[in-house]
Amino acid sequence: MPLSRHALSDAAQRFGTPLYVYDDAELTAARRRVQQAFGTARVFYAMKANPNLTLLRGFAAAGLGFECVSLGELARAEALGLSGERLILNGPAKSDAEYAAAARLGATIVVDREEEVMLLPPGSRVLVRVNPSLTVSTHDHLATGTARSKFGLTPEQVPGTLNELRDAGHEVLGLHVHIGSAIEQAEDFTAAFARVTALRSQVGELGVLNVGGGWQSNADLPGIAYEAHEAARAFGAELWVEPGRYLVAGAGWLLTRVVGTKRTGRNFCLVDAGMTEFLRPMLYGAAHPLYPMWDALATEIWDVAGPACESGDLLARGVPLPTPQRGQLLVIGEVGAYGASMSSSYLSRPRPAEALWDGQEWHLIRRRETPQETWAAEV
Ligand SMILES: *Cc1c(COP(=O)(O)O)cnc(C)c1O
Repeated sequence: MPLSRHALSDAAQRFGTPLYVYDDAELTAARRRVQQAFGTARVFYAMKANPNLTLLRGFAAAGLGFECVSLGELARAEALGLSGERLILNGPAKSDAEYAAAARLGATIVVDREEEVMLLPPGSRVLVRVNPSLTVSTHDHLATGTARSKFGLTPEQVPGTLNELRDAGHEVLGLHVHIGSAIEQAEDFTAAFARVTALRSQVGELGVLNVGGGWQSNADLPGIAYEAHEAARAFGAELWVEPGRYLVAGAGWLLTRVVGTKRTGRNFCLVDAGMTEFLRPMLYGAAHPLYPMWDALATEIWDVAGPACESGDLLARGVPLPTPQRGQLLVIGEVGAYGASMSSSYLSRPRPAEALWDGQEWHLIRRRETPQETWAAEV
């Protein structure tokens, strides 16, 4: 772990727990790995992985565009002054307000179903999303390119829809494919790109091929980049990519304090973060690395449980930990993506604070919500 124990306990002391912390050097390193591996491709950061404005500002300054999936995400991009070719709007069920915002900002819109031909603002710049109908090596809820997932058009629907879009006066840039998140096997990308390039003879040359994201923190980026560039070349197209997780996952840690222990036949290590701060273990059965910031003579097997009144509120099950005590600090790794962005105020729990380490010192980049803010919108 690049952050020292001292820096981590300092952050917990200053900003309280539960707390998300990010290392700026890691964010920069991941971004450079993407830019080096993909070379000439255009990179759009999938903002849903972590939409904190400080992180977005860094990516924007490095020349990245943003992939947005909601009105709120478009508003974040607009707040940072981004528009036009730097923005993509994606989503399976876009609202009128989202189409209008995309049109006003000049964002590229990804068409996800045939019906959208009639719904798009006049003269939209579009990509058409292909669902390659594959089995994908990830949790069922993270797979978006399977035959029963709600995303994209079937390959059979694509050629006709491209023609209809052109006839309706829209600017068709090309195709889009994104098969899911946290994809375990590189062959899944190869298979998806093959399904898309199989359309080449029917759809002809294209301006853009956008191959989405879905790469794990340890993915073979040069390998994926090679395949993606080959697929784009088949269409004579420029390559676009939309990484979310890869750019931020490894740069984030969740700091939580031990509230106490309980022994009932199972050993529970109770901590002050749970499903409301970090949903991935409950939602996807995700296993994240744990770093106990304490030493003890004995190591036993523990379930790490949060404070929510929900049986599923576990951050880890059956993991070895040195015997914990109230007040000690537990650090959870690989949480920079889909961590803070999925936190909620369920149980009227204020959403956690976030801090950034710049190599010298901590900067608070989101203050902890107050309990009052959890009902601020109620009338
Ligand atoms: C979520 C999403 C991404 C990013 O996925 P990661 O697994 O975070 O890289 C890219 N494109 C689309 C369309 C998405 O929905």
